[in-house]
Amino acid sequence: MPRGRRNAPCTAPRCKPSCGAKVLTSSPSVIIAGAGIGGLTAALALARNGFRVVVLEQTERLEETGAGIQLSPNATRVLNALGLGADLERHGVVPAGLRVLAATSGREILRMPLGERAAQRYGAPYWLIHRGDLQAALAAAAARMLHITVKLGMHADDFATHANGVTVSARGRAGVVDERGTAFIAADGLWSATRARIGYGEPPRFAGRTAWRALVPAKDVAPQWREPLIRLWLGRDAHLVHYPVKGGNLINVVAIMEDSWNAPGWSEPAARADLMRRFSPRHWTPQALSLIGAPEAWLKWALYDRRPLLSWSQGPIALLGDAAHPMLPYLAQGAAMAIEDAAVAAQCLARMPDDPTAALRAYSAMRRARAWKVQRLAARNGARYHLTGVRAVLRNAMMRALGGAWLLRHYDWLYDWRPPPALSLS
Ligand SMILES: Cc1cc2nc3c(=O)[nH]c(=O)nc-3n(C[C@H](O)[C@H](O)[C@H](O)COP(=O)(O)OP(=O)(O)OC[C@H]3O[C@@H](n4cnc5c(N)ncnc54)[C@H](O)[C@@H]3O)c2cc1C
Repeated sequence: MPRGRRNAPCTAPRCKPSCGAKVLTSSPSVIIAGAGIGGLTAALALARNGFRVVVLEQTERLEETGAGIQLSPNATRVLNALGLGADLERHGVVPAGLRVLAATSGREILRMPLGERAAQRYGAPYWLIHRGDLQAALAAAAARMLHITVKLGMHADDFATHANGVTVSARGRAGVVDERGTAFIAADGLWSATRARIGYGEPPRFAGRTAWRALVPAKDVAPQWREPLIRLWLGRDAHLVHYPVKGGNLINVVAIMEDSWNAPGWSEPAARADLMRRFSPRHWTPQALSLIGAPEAWLKWALYDRRPLLSWSQGPIALLGDAAHPMLPYLAQGAAMAIEDAAVAAQCLARMPDDPTAALRAYSAMRRARAWKVQRLAARNGARYHLTGVRAVLRNAMMRALGGAWLLRHYDWLYDWRPPPALSLS
């Protein structure tokens, strides 16, 4: 702890006894762009480590946008440490396992155990959750902490560094406002403007695929689809993932296919008939087609990733989450990686509050290799999922031979991640 700074318990009148924050007597402040999953998690982790945090979010309201997100133990461990476990448990569903199925025959290729097995193996649960529930839980926790201010309707536009830190300019209804802090974290998502400003101007690259999503009331689907399982159907140039969310009341269905439509955005309305045309009964079992046919309303988004960045920080500025490492969804790790980033960034800043440049450089160095690996493996999974002909048959045979228990062990390096030793969140 640097001289002149002491850790004192939080005594803020608005804080609940469970807030757990330590406040540095002369708290440095951090500005975050983006109140998405990574930005809000970083705000909570920083506030717990004695920082004052201002979060600038461009949207006017944190609405329930998006659909299902998988939270593996590497992420839930962090969320639990931040005190969100009880809230998330209420909304989340614990999947008993992941079933991989062949789209043409409906035969099971593999079943990877999750549920109790994953919780025991990794010491943290696996949850299926609606992105909106996760964001709302994070936002509610942030609202309970006096040292976090979330400013909605503020688009972080520009920044300037100076001897004592950084000034971030944000545009809102009332004009441009400057926020001053010792560090600036850009958690502004896939299309991050800050990423370009720190020298990575190349835009995200389109992966040649789109994801279509829908939420179906559980009562409207066959009982088997309500089971707490993640089902992954591997088909010809397409795959389908579905699982329950919202405590089991809704089924999240995502169909991913080869496509040339590539507009930015998360929620473009899409026509069911268009989707059905792409899922031919020649290649998809009637059961899978019945599920795809159930929802009337679909939304779609184009899939992007990006070549890995050499560094995520520049002076007292750092990128976090999708801004730093946009990734394809085939390993279900986009949210988890943003949550891991948030924990490490906060802890690095807590260890070196007087030298945010060094702290954020350390954060970038600690995170890069892991995020690259996840980006790379996610892309590789995506290629495997859409194999056809003999190559698909060989893939299925190989997966059957290896089995689900092997697959879970194979992911130990991913799910058993913990914040580095000597760094703590609680
Ligand atoms: C609306 C939306 C819906 C999504 N739906 C799904 C889904 O259904 N399934 C899924 O797997 N993933 C979804 N995602 C992506 C997923 O949430 C992220 O990939 C993951 O959680 C990584 O989080 P992140 O914090 O890096 O970015 P995000 O969660 O994408 O958050 C980025 C935030 O930054 C804000 N922002 C952007 N630019 C600025 C700026 N200049 N100033 C201030 N704020 C800014 C955005 O409004 C957003 O709130 C969605 C993301 C969004 C934004």
